[in-house]
Amino acid sequence: MSIEVQNITKIFGNFTALKDLSLHVPTGELVALLGPSGSGKTTLLRIIAGLETADAGTVLFHGEDVENKHVRKRKVGFVFQHYALFRHMNVFENVAFGLRVRARKKRPSENEIRERVHKLLNLVQLDRMAARFPSQLSGGQRQRVALARALAVEPKVLLLDEPFGSLDARVRRELRQWLRHLHDELHITSVFVTHDQEEALEVADRVVVMNEGRVEQVGTPDEVYHHPATPFVYNFLGNVNLFHARIEKGKAYIGELAIDLPHAQPDSESAMVYVRPHLLDISRARGENGDLRARVVHINLAGSIVKVELLSEKGDTIQVEISQERFSQLLLKKHEDVYVTPKEVRIFPQDYSI
Ligand code: ATP
Repeated sequence: MSIEVQNITKIFGNFTALKDLSLHVPTGELVALLGPSGSGKTTLLRIIAGLETADAGTVLFHGEDVENKHVRKRKVGFVFQHYALFRHMNVFENVAFGLRVRARKKRPSENEIRERVHKLLNLVQLDRMAARFPSQLSGGQRQRVALARALAVEPKVLLLDEPFGSLDARVRRELRQWLRHLHDELHITSVFVTHDQEEALEVADRVVVMNEGRVEQVGTPDEVYHHPATPFVYNFLGNVNLFHARIEKGKAYIGELAIDLPHAQPDSESAMVYVRPHLLDISRARGENGDLRARVVHINLAGSIVKVELLSEKGDTIQVEISQERFSQLLLKKHEDVYVTPKEVRIFPQDYSI
């Protein structure tokens, strides 16, 4: 079932949480709503679910306006950050709950319920724990039960609000991959809210980057990461170095350094140049186009890459990420003066601000 959000506005008191927001989620897609705290992700999810009403705009499920359709009739499955499992029911009964409370005519037989619940518990790899109570499970296991419970009623749309938010980093990573695999198997149109870039980029088919109640960009993880439409997206999706530059005749000048620009840019005395830490290199020799001189102030060797923090002659902090191999070649030391060269830069028109 596809979801179409058209020109939604939501106002709380005198605060506009969503501003004329539109979004299309095709059938079977797994979409992440990604944005900082307060950007309106949960509000949008709740409006899609029918838990909140919009002040203007429409939500269509499979082309049908669902404004007057009660939450229960929307065939939506929910999973929230705090797994609201029934404490007095075991895992099996938690998952079976949505089926048991159906009107008699629509309720499956006891055998069918048993079969469906075991199938779902197998899917979330918890069949052996069917008799346990929520208090006897780990956080990750409880969240998987919550997901099985949401899936039991065969929703057409699955909505997840920070589903792994309260779990530790390792369990989060595991559940992330697991959600991806589950979605590949079931293909239920799914929307999940997260403020974690890595989570969104790793799990989603498409990422909706939100900021102050608006959509900044919608795209595949690759598109939003490698081709950010705005400085906000560039900044939000990873670390970035910002340099003040002057643009003249197709080149950007950062101090002594001249960089050829891939696209035509109007001349400017006050442009901002954006460079990701892994797109900067460090060398001992000055390059032919000039370089940025900087002093090494910190080296972090823990991890698959080496993170080097430098201070430019103008006093700006520069973050650089290089491979362990490159680091061994350079034999960098703290307090040394070196040259920093960008391999790729990004310049946004001046009317954008972060
Ligand atoms: P977070 O990641 O912190 O959960 P979010 O992006 O999900 O943030 P929302 O929960 O959608 O953001 O909230 C968007 C804005 O609307 C926030 O500034 C919030 O304070 C405000 N807001 C949300 N619900 C209400 C409410 N019931 N009454 C008043 N303001 C609200």
